[in-house]
Amino acid sequence: MASLDRIRTDGFRRWYERQLIECHAWLVSWFLGVIVLVSGIEVAGAGGASRMSGALLVLGGLAVTLYSWKRYHLLMEVAERLGEQAACPGCQAYGKFTVQSSGPAPLPDGGDPALENHGGGVWLRAQCRKCGDEWTIK
Ligand SMILES: [Zn+2]
Repeated sequence: MASLDRIRTDGFRRWYERQLIECHAWLVSWFLGVIVLVSGIEVAGAGGASRMSGALLVLGGLAVTLYSWKRYHLLMEVAERLGEQAACPGCQAYGKFTVQSSGPAPLPDGGDPALENHGGGVWLRAQCRKCGDEWTIK
């Protein structure tokens, strides 16, 4: 199921919670990548036959570090941007809305270019479950 479609099915609060959990999982993998990277530098510095395995550890750690940071930053930015607009303008109820319509339809998942562009182009027409007020989240 597409990541942003979960707002419609599970509700905004649950989606936001899961988004933050996934963000922090990527932050943990970033940290593990840094450990592998530093270990690789240490192993390569020992010289001799371990130089090649150290270089492989550095490359692997660097790849994990860069990719994890990119995913963490992207998911966090989308969560922040939608989270800032999740309060009802009528009664200030936070995250208590249903999605009336959305675009582009169907909503892109995590691998979609629209989301990779920091959620650019994604919009949700929200209706407050408390007071019925409508607004657009984009
Ligand atoms: Zn409201």
